[in-house]
Amino acid sequence: MLKIGVLLGDDIGLEVVPEAVKCMKAAAAKTGMQAEWINLPIGKTGHDTHGHTMPQITVDTLATVDGWLQGPIGHNAYPRHDPTWINPPLRKKFELFANVKPVKSYPNLPSLHKDVDIVFLRETTEGMQSSSVVFAGAGEFRPNDDISIGFRVVTRKGASRVAREAFEIARTRQKKIVTCVHKEPVYRLVCGMFAEEHRKMAKEYPDVTLNEVLVDGFAMKLVMRPQQFDVVVTTNQFGDILTDEGAGLVGGLGLAPGLVCGEKQAMAQATHGSAPDIAGRNIANPYAMIMSGKMLLEWLGRKRSDPKATAAAKILDDAMERVIAEGKQLTGDLGGKASTTQMGDAVVAAMK
Ligand code: NAD
Repeated sequence: MLKIGVLLGDDIGLEVVPEAVKCMKAAAAKTGMQAEWINLPIGKTGHDTHGHTMPQITVDTLATVDGWLQGPIGHNAYPRHDPTWINPPLRKKFELFANVKPVKSYPNLPSLHKDVDIVFLRETTEGMQSSSVVFAGAGEFRPNDDISIGFRVVTRKGASRVAREAFEIARTRQKKIVTCVHKEPVYRLVCGMFAEEHRKMAKEYPDVTLNEVLVDGFAMKLVMRPQQFDVVVTTNQFGDILTDEGAGLVGGLGLAPGLVCGEKQAMAQATHGSAPDIAGRNIANPYAMIMSGKMLLEWLGRKRSDPKATAAAKILDDAMERVIAEGKQLTGDLGGKASTTQMGDAVVAAMK
């Protein structure tokens, strides 16, 4: 039986995460997928009940689950002195090395481009971001008031494991193309190593095509003709920027799901924050969190060789497709009038 953690987070997390769980459970019931769902405190609830936004009981239990859903953290809700450094330490502790973010357009929803269907993988444990790359201290420093120094880390292990994940995902898709985005002609060693590991990995996946595009040109191509891309994999900082650009192409935050995955575990986490401006009104768009849950089912299906989880993901995906195509039960940000709960209910009702 699969063990799945449920961490609501704050503000709209309390509204969208239950919708995701509801849809995942309904899809699982259709395929007979067995799972134990374990609620764990985090965020303001963690602070109120255990005196910490990431209680030890939560960290200890997460070590025992196959994967989890995590709602957004509302930093503004905490007392100033409270430690709220949750996401980077979690990624590091559980070695969640790839942030997988699909970018998909729907024919009847407004978007800058149509027929976009890209899966981005942003490496999340290395690169330029100091919180990701250092064990202690900071990844940047200022030896005197006129000089600031930051650095970037790429390892063979880090590049290789995100490459494998990209090829594995590409293998499940129609186009089967991995685009590795880097800037090797300038960053010969760091981007060079990242690219080398992708070239090596390509030999293990003869059914998948590897393309390489330099990051500046990629940013332009993504805006002009995103339809040419399938699976796109890149380093931490480049990915941080390009995945937001991708989300902007197809309608923004409400439509931006994500999965942060490692070799052993994965965390379903939408891109959006806790949206305190709309919290408590049952109007938040549950799409991003529901589809993050769908990605977790897909990942569990692949990694645990559980065809029932894979089938449940497909059922959930098709149901969401129907709800969006019908356009009757959409939240306000998508031009509809439905509440968060009504949109979630519609997804469950659309499952065949
Ligand atoms: P935000 O993503 O919460 O909100 C930005 C805008 O998008 C708001 O107008 C909000 O109403 C809207 N929005 C976001 N999600 C939506 C949804 N599902 N449906 C409809 N509209 C939606 O970003 P912010 O306002 O900059 O941050 C709010 C809080 O969230 C802050 O405390 C921030 O630190 C935190 N945050 C947490 C995470 C995380 O835990 N993963 C990520 C980003 C921000």
